[in-house]
Parts: sequence; C-alpha cells; structure tokens
Amino acid sequence: ALSIGIVGLPNVGKSTLFNSLSSAKAEAANYPFCTIEPNVGVVVVPDDRLEKIDSVIHADRILPTTINFVDIAGLVRGASKGEGLGNQFLSHIREADAIVQVGRCFEDSNVIHVENRVDPVADVATVTMELCLKDLETVQKRLDRARKMAKSNDPKEKLAGEICEMLSKHLDDGKPARTAQLPDSVDAVAIVREMHLLTAKPAFYIANIDEGTIANLDGNKHFQALKQLAESEGSFVVPVCAALESQIAELDPKDRPEFLESAGLKEPGLHGVIRAGYKLLGLQTFFTAGKQEVRAWTTKIGAKAPQAAGVIHTDFEKGFIKAEVMWWEDLVTLGSEAKCREAGKLAIEGKEYVMRDGDVVHFRFNV
Ligand code: GDP
Repeated sequence: ALSIGIVGLPNVGKSTLFNSLSSAKAEAANYPFCTIEPNVGVVVVPDDRLEKIDSVIHADRILPTTINFVDIAGLVRGASKGEGLGNQFLSHIREADAIVQVGRCFEDSNVIHVENRVDPVADVATVTMELCLKDLETVQKRLDRARKMAKSNDPKEKLAGEICEMLSKHLDDGKPARTAQLPDSVDAVAIVREMHLLTAKPAFYIANIDEGTIANLDGNKHFQALKQLAESEGSFVVPVCAALESQIAELDPKDRPEFLESAGLKEPGLHGVIRAGYKLLGLQTFFTAGKQEVRAWTTKIGAKAPQAAGVIHTDFEKGFIKAEVMWWEDLVTLGSEAKCREAGKLAIEGKEYVMRDGDVVHFRFNV
C-alpha cells in the first residue's frame, strides 16, 4: 500500500497526530527522539458513501479502504549530516510515497520547542533545508558522473548535466526539487526520477493549531504564514488541532458529533488530512456491494477495470472477462442491482474501461 510519511521537528505534534490517525497507543512524550522506530499506521479513509450504499444493501459488515501513515521521528537541524536520528530518518523518508510536514502553530510553555520559538515557517524551512542538503549530495554525485561521461557525447548525459546544475542551485536555496522548473521531456523526467530525491516527492502541510483558534483560522498568524508558504509552492495546508484530535479519537463514536460541535468543527480535522493524502497520491475509490460486505477499494486515478479487479485479487485480473458497473448514487436511489439493470443503469464494461471514483462493480472472471 502507498504510504505518507509524517515529518517535522521534534515536539510539533507528529506522534499525537499519528496516534489519533491510527488510534494506536504509542507514547507521545514531551522530549525529542522519543519515537525511534517509525510507526506505520493503517488508517481508514472516511467515506460517507459506504453507509449510504449499505442503507440499500444491508450487508453483514462495512469495510472502508485504508492508506498508511508513517510517523518519522528524528529530524533536527543537522540531520542530513547524521545529527539526531539522521540516517535512520532519511531511509524511512525515502520509503514514503508522499510527505506531510507538520508545523507547530500552537503556543504552550509546557511543551519545549527544540529551537525555543513558535515559528512554523522557520520550522518547515529547517526541515526542508535538511532534505535539500541530502538531495544536493545525490545531485552532486549524478553531476560528477555526467561530467565524466561528457566525452562520450551521449545526449542523455549532457541533459543530465544541465538538469543537475539547475537542481543544485535550486536545492542550495532551500527549495524542494518538486518546485524546480525543469525540462519536461521523457528523458528529463527519467533523469530526475532515477535520482529518487527526497524533495521531489509530493508534499503537503499540516498546521497544528491551538484549541482556541482552530474554529477561527483568520485569527492565527502562524497558520496564515504557513498557508502562504504552502501556496507559494503550489501546495496546501490542512489545519488540525492535535490535542483535540486525540480526544476525539478516544471518544465513543456516538459522542463525537456533540464534541465536534462544541469545538466548532464540522468533522475531525484528520479526515481532511486523510483525504488530502489520498488525493495527493492520485488515488480514488470504487466499491463492491454484496450481502456479505459493502467494501471500498483503492486504485490509482486512471486505472482500467482489470487493474481494479487485481486490487481485490490477482486472479481477478488474470482471468478478467468483464465488469458490471453501477454508479453508486443510482444504486442508492434505485435500491438494488436488479432495479439498476431494469432501468438500464448497469453497464457491462470490458478491459479498456477506465474506473470512476464512485463506481460499484461486480467483476466477472475465469479461474
Ligand atoms: P512530536 O515530537 O512531533 O512527535 O510531538 P508529540 O506529538 O510527541 O507532542 C509533543 C508534546 O506536545 C506532547 O506533550 C503533546 O501532548 C503536546 N502537543 C501536541 N499537540 C498539541 C496541541 O495541539 N496543543 C498542545 N497544547 N499541546 C500539544
């Protein structure tokens, strides 16, 4: 499964968020380097459509789809040179498919800030700089190779040399590789991809806000500053109050609506985080609906029917014959698969069918 790595300086609230996300009870201690092993949390993707589909199916169980979040601790100034948990941190971040950076926007004198100030933009810059420095090493190695190969007159190596020079300057300014304006030829894209740069991964931000201003973000200058930074990179920031989220996670689900209302929230902030991660990874959802279970499954946007079938079982992909597809809202309004069929709302699709977010599918396959 695809995973999103949670990074940030110590004491910004990563573990608190992670624990609420996965409702795993790892320790959130008030000192740096507390979470040494990265924790992988399997996180449910919230989706209102599941309950609605089940309102006409009445299945034995409802199974949402999931994505993985990884709590990556140990990043401090100097991490790229092995400070703190430097190397361990870097290998964990390399394994993540996308990155979310947490910026501390809450003031609390009981919670030490590693750099003695609350300034999420500076925090984010510190973290980004460490990642840029590590990427600079990678780019420098690639540049050396391209230069050595210069005599061979290989056009790909010449292009690699140009790209590495552009990237070096960009990274040296503390700017992530994903924001660099590079040539977009097939070769250029391959050259960049082969370097597996940490700062080329898709990324977004979480602003960890105090309880007092979560319902009034205009009044939180830290949030506004972080939002501006995210948007300047073509990214975005999701506001969350980690302290509230950990309380929400511990509540009985039936008590949550009242709690959310009293906090001035429409839904848990983490739902926004999960949806953002899902979208950033280019993922979408389809459903299967039978008496045993109503279930959500994940595919890449653009996946065709056999690939989607393969998410359920590899045999479904190998033996794929056809897909019977309904739109989830048609199923809910008309009330059953039979009614959809009668109304001409059940399409028979073949191998080339491109899945839509919200399809309810029944695959036919040979075994
Ligand atoms: P990490 O080092 O980034 O993983 O940070 P933790 O999640 O361990 O949090 C560090 C400390 O800050 C803990 O004592 C948390 O209880 C506290 N903390 C986290 N989020 C919030 C918040 O939103 N408000 C307040 N007041 N404290 C928080």
